[in-house]
Amino acid sequence: MNRSLLRPSLGPLVGRADGTLHLRVEDPLQLSEGTISRATENTGFTCERCGHRVAPLRNGSYRNHCPACLHSKHVDLRPGDRASPCQGLMAPVRLDHHSAKGYMVVHRCLACGLVGRNRIADDDALDQLISLMR
Ligand SMILES: [Zn+2]
Ligand SMILES: [Zn+2]
Repeated sequence: MNRSLLRPSLGPLVGRADGTLHLRVEDPLQLSEGTISRATENTGFTCERCGHRVAPLRNGSYRNHCPACLHSKHVDLRPGDRASPCQGLMAPVRLDHHSAKGYMVVHRCLACGLVGRNRIADDDALDQLISLMR
């Protein structure tokens, strides 16, 4: 067997493991946070910037931003855990393209400067997404 033939298959596997990192935690403490995040990640919320009532997604995706103005809130230390003490408003700054997840909105917290990414949703306002591409 030529071992080098096996190496290319490792690439996609590593990528998938990265993409689901918040659900595949090994530390027992983090595992309990991951369990909580799965229960809370699809609750709706009211946007603090524009007042839009944001419904939870029904396709299993995780959304943390307002579909009308794309703003988010700094509530997570790890995706979905709602454990951050910051609670600052997070403004959309640009779009990133991720090979596995597609387009991601890049947010920066107006309170502490933290930068985060969240996958765009089907009902995100198109004109807002386009304005981030410029
Ligand atoms: Zn909004
Ligand atoms: Zn913050």
